[in-house]
Amino acid sequence: MTTARDLSLSNSKKVRGRKAYPNKILVGKEEFEIQFKRVIFDDEKYLGICDLEDNVIYLKKGQDPYELFKTLLHEYLHAIEKSDKIKIKHSLIYRLEKALANFLIQNFETLQKIIK
Ligand SMILES: [Zn+2]
Repeated sequence: MTTARDLSLSNSKKVRGRKAYPNKILVGKEEFEIQFKRVIFDDEKYLGICDLEDNVIYLKKGQDPYELFKTLLHEYLHAIEKSDKIKIKHSLIYRLEKALANFLIQNFETLQKIIK
């Protein structure tokens, strides 16, 4: 939860909050609905849940934009486990969520030029 330090990695790039999020996101060929909840499954501790049965990613409201983005990536990695039929250790998912968030934020403009 070292948000300030992590954000400084991204220089002046901003990570947008909940209102910027779409209702759906693609994971491979599958669509996952994105739903924001004040409390997920009656448990305050959950920042996000990926429902692999119904293809829904639940995200907890009130996270700062960087934490929210990391949570989305965390749940996206769980969704990949389904779409790509792979198993990723949960400890690795936590490490990847941060690494991927920083990579995408720090290189966003470059990636936009590469991928069109
Ligand atoms: Zn998880």
